[in-house]
Amino acid sequence: MSLLYEKFLSIYRETNMQNFYPSYLLENLDRFARETIYYNKAYLSPYRFAHKNMMTARDAVQFFLFFTNADGPFDIIYFFECSNVACDHRFKYTREQFKRISTETVYEIYCEECGKKYIFNDILPFIQVYFILKPEQCLEFSNKSKIDPSSTFGALKDMTNGLQESPPSFLTDSKDGGEGGREKLAVQVVDVVVANIDNSGNIISIDVENSLPPFLQKMRLSMNERIRNTI
Ligand SMILES: [Zn+2]
Repeated sequence: MSLLYEKFLSIYRETNMQNFYPSYLLENLDRFARETIYYNKAYLSPYRFAHKNMMTARDAVQFFLFFTNADGPFDIIYFFECSNVACDHRFKYTREQFKRISTETVYEIYCEECGKKYIFNDILPFIQVYFILKPEQCLEFSNKSKIDPSSTFGALKDMTNGLQESPPSFLTDSKDGGEGGREKLAVQVVDVVVANIDNSGNIISIDVENSLPPFLQKMRLSMNERIRNTI
């Protein structure tokens, strides 16, 4: 078994995710991550994983979040597109960068390309999240599978690679994980907030939670209520 699978398995055993997810999904996730890297795709699409495994997108996002903690092999990247049609600049933030913005009362953000000013709270609904394998994990993979690591890192760096339209939110579309059309890669930040809590009320990824604006965390209760009403 691969090192990645072993990581999945130890997290599975150490957390309460075994109450929610069957263990065969770990093998499927291992294969899924390998395929993603093999084809030099930077982002792990929870929508694709959901479709392959007959899960809802929400469950797949939650499943991914269990592996997005300090000792987990996954991480996330936040991004937002400048709404100036002549610009197309993409604001990208690592978890740490986003945490700084969302917790240090930075209310105004300027586009570095066109100078357009944004109020952070206004853009929150448009911020999206990509799931990635941590770079050190990719390296581990590359050493084993003889894939050129520079191409993997190239894909990680090239944020315009494979970008798609905004996925529908869980809050507005309950038909999750469907194929149809182009592949969905990014998850809306509000959907990550909603998925980052298990049925017992425990936060799943503390690292992700700590990077979120307190404002969104507070909204989670009412958002979960809306989800229950739409399903
Ligand atoms: Zn701009």
